[in-house]
Amino acid sequence: MKIYQSNLLKNFKNITHAFTTKDGGVSKAPYATLNLAFHVGDTSSDVEHNHQLLAQHLKYEKNSLIHMKQIHSSHVHKVLDTDNFESPHKCDALITDKKETPLMVMVADCAPILFYDPINRVIAVAHAGREGVFQNIVKKVLDMFFEEYNSKAKNIYVSVGANIKVCCYEVGYEIVEQAKKLGMEYALKKQKSGFFLDINAIVKKQLLKEGVTHEHIEFADECTCCKRETYFSYRADGTTGRFCGVIMLQ
Ligand SMILES: [Zn+2]
Repeated sequence: MKIYQSNLLKNFKNITHAFTTKDGGVSKAPYATLNLAFHVGDTSSDVEHNHQLLAQHLKYEKNSLIHMKQIHSSHVHKVLDTDNFESPHKCDALITDKKETPLMVMVADCAPILFYDPINRVIAVAHAGREGVFQNIVKKVLDMFFEEYNSKAKNIYVSVGANIKVCCYEVGYEIVEQAKKLGMEYALKKQKSGFFLDINAIVKKQLLKEGVTHEHIEFADECTCCKRETYFSYRADGTTGRFCGVIMLQ
């Protein structure tokens, strides 16, 4: 199983984390092979099996995993004792200070974001696509760190996994107008064919604005659409699986 770790987060001994790829699962095309999402048309026993394989690989209990019914919102859910693997909440971010409770975000082009405050021992994950960044989900997650756990922005580490980069994310007129209205001209790149949107530039600006430091922010280099053989990419393939970002306090 080919997974990636964050250079920022891998130095912390008491968390488990990873970003997955397409590699190491049992699903068949077009979900081959490590598809982790149940809602994309894949055989659910294969998805279940993939979750089991990942849990074994990362050494957590599969049924302790908390994932989401992602809806392109900015809703952040604070994990409850009653939450479970079988009935994920409708939300786009999860936060917890519970140990042995892995949090997962699933993506195919959207940005999978992992957060960690090693001082207060709090973790979070977020799903940030265009709608998520337009609604500033990053700020919503950080507000939860501040309000629910008394975290300080300067202590929080943020790792953003592979997602669609500005090279491949061409957007139409309406989205260009919306971005301009939101003061995000800086993230629009004009090419001959039209405008391209830089989601990562928006995420970075939003994090810095809330006080997260440069040194604690990391972006994966790879574009999911350019590297469609490694990652699931909705824009490249349409019907496809989802890879994940996952993090757990030990
Ligand atoms: Zn690209």
